[in-house]
Amino acid sequence: MSTPAKKLQNLLGLSRDELEHLAEGLGQPRFRGRQLYEALYKQRATDFQRMTNLSQAFRSELAGRYLIAYPQIDRQFPSRDLAVRYLHRLEDGNSIETVYMPDETRTTLCLSSQVGCAVDCKFCFTALLGVKRNLTSCEIIGQVLTVAAAQAIPHRARLNLVFMGMGEPLLNLPAVMKAVHIIADPNGLGVPLRRITISTAGIVPKIRELALDPMRPKLAVSLNASTDAQRDAIMPINRKYPLAQLLQVCRDYPLRPREHLTFEYVMLDGVNDADADARRVVKLLEGLRAKVNLIPYNGGPELPFKSSPMRRVMAFQDILVARDIPAYIRVSRGQDVRAACGQLSLAGVGD
Ligand code: SAH
Repeated sequence: MSTPAKKLQNLLGLSRDELEHLAEGLGQPRFRGRQLYEALYKQRATDFQRMTNLSQAFRSELAGRYLIAYPQIDRQFPSRDLAVRYLHRLEDGNSIETVYMPDETRTTLCLSSQVGCAVDCKFCFTALLGVKRNLTSCEIIGQVLTVAAAQAIPHRARLNLVFMGMGEPLLNLPAVMKAVHIIADPNGLGVPLRRITISTAGIVPKIRELALDPMRPKLAVSLNASTDAQRDAIMPINRKYPLAQLLQVCRDYPLRPREHLTFEYVMLDGVNDADADARRVVKLLEGLRAKVNLIPYNGGPELPFKSSPMRRVMAFQDILVARDIPAYIRVSRGQDVRAACGQLSLAGVGD
C-alpha cells in the first residue's frame, strides 16, 4: 500500500517575517527568507528551481515541503469592452471572481475579499449568496498574481486595485490588510498604496481601525442614499451604523496630503436619485475632502431595481458639481458578461 503524499503547504500569502522564520526553521539564515519573499512577490516566481540565488539544496528542500500555487482560473468571460471576468476555483471548491479592466494608461483589477457577502444590500447580487467565508491573504494576493500572469501584465504596468468585488473587505480586515501590505511593499508586488482602494458599505468601527494603520490604502464609502430611512431600506447595515455615525467617522479619518475620501452612490431609479437627494448629499458631505462616484445601477432579473436614466444621473451630478463637490459618472465595465460591480457571483458561482 502506498502512503499518501504529504500535503504541501502553499507559501503564497506569507509575509516577509513569516518567510524569514520559515527559512530559519530550515536551518537557513534569515535573509534567505527575504530572498524567497522577493522571488514570490517581486519576481512572481512559481517554481523554486528558478530561484537561482538560493542554493540547490535549499531549493530542493523547499520543493519537498512547499508549493507556490495561484488560484485556478476555472472560467473566463471576455467582454466586448476588453474587460475580462475571471472565475477562480478555490481549493475548497468555492468560487470567487476577479475582474480585469484594461485602459489606455492603466489596468484596474477588481478584487473579491470574501466568498459571498453578509452585508445584505438589497440591490446587490452578491448579497443573494449570503456569506460563505473570508478569503485568506493567499487567495487575495493570488487573484492579482493569477490575472497578472494570464494577461501578461508587465511588472512595471500601472496597476490599480480596488476591493469592489465580492464581499465586504472591512469584515475581513486582517487578511485584507496582510495582503495589502505585501502588495504595496516595493519588495513585494510594488503597487503603491495610493493605487489601492478598499470600498466599504460603512462598517464604522472597522473604518476607525483602518484609520490607525499607517500602511492603509485609500478608502471608498458606499453612501448610496441621502437619508437614514432610504439607506435603512436598501442597506440594512445602516440600522447599525446610521449616517450620522458613518459621516462622523469619515470626518475623523486622517487623510494624507492630497488624499480624499471617495463616496460611491449607486443610482437607483426612483429610489435615491431625485434632485432633493443630490442636495441632501451635498449637505451630508459638507466640510469633507471628498469626491463622489455616481454609478448607474447594473440590474438583472433577480432583483427589482432599475438604473436611473442617464439624464437623471447627469442632473444629479450637476447639482453636486455646482456645490463644489467633484462628482464623476462611473459606467461599469464588462456589462455584457455581468462583470459589472455587484453582479459578480450569480452567473458564475455554483454553476
Ligand atoms: N462591500 C463593499 C465592496 C463591494 S460592492 C461595498 O459595499 O462598498 C462595490 C460597490 O458596488 C459598492 O459601492 C456598491 O454599492 C456597488 N454595487 C453593488 N451592486 C451594484 C450593482 N448591481 N450595480 C452598480 N453598483 C453596485
